[in-house]
Amino acid sequence: MPDRKQTGYLFSDMADPEPVLISACLLGIPCRWHGRRAKKRTELIERLQRKYVLVPVCPEQLGGMPTPRTSEMLNGTGAEVLDGDLRLIAPETGEDVTRFHVNGAKYTLELAQIVGAQRAYMKGGSPSCDRDGVAGEVLRRGGIRVIRVP
Ligand code: SF4
Repeated sequence: MPDRKQTGYLFSDMADPEPVLISACLLGIPCRWHGRRAKKRTELIERLQRKYVLVPVCPEQLGGMPTPRTSEMLNGTGAEVLDGDLRLIAPETGEDVTRFHVNGAKYTLELAQIVGAQRAYMKGGSPSCDRDGVAGEVLRRGGIRVIRVP
């Protein structure tokens, strides 16, 4: 059993804290498309860790995309992607990478169900993690409350 104090912000000192998903890049993990770190959201992390066990996820990596990877934009909504009305095309290569985003979103929901998470703090502006992104939409359709972190 890991010492909770030594495991840092992933574990709370509470006896039976609720697990929540969080976009891994919000923790300062360099999983963004260009491979650089985002600013670690220390204040948010400290606030959340008082109540929850934080379970980091990067839907795009879960979907099989490497870091660094291509930089596609979502010119619409995750709902349109899931309903087959919109494709995600990598601007650098012209490759249709929709399947990676959709698979990653499904694995993210699967992970939420495995750990029993009922809410997710997800990075806004991402084609995957935004509340209206592909993973955000899959999570919401799966009954998970998605909180958009700007
Ligand atoms: Fe962060 Fe989500 Fe993009 Fe991964 S997919 S880098 S967790 S915003």
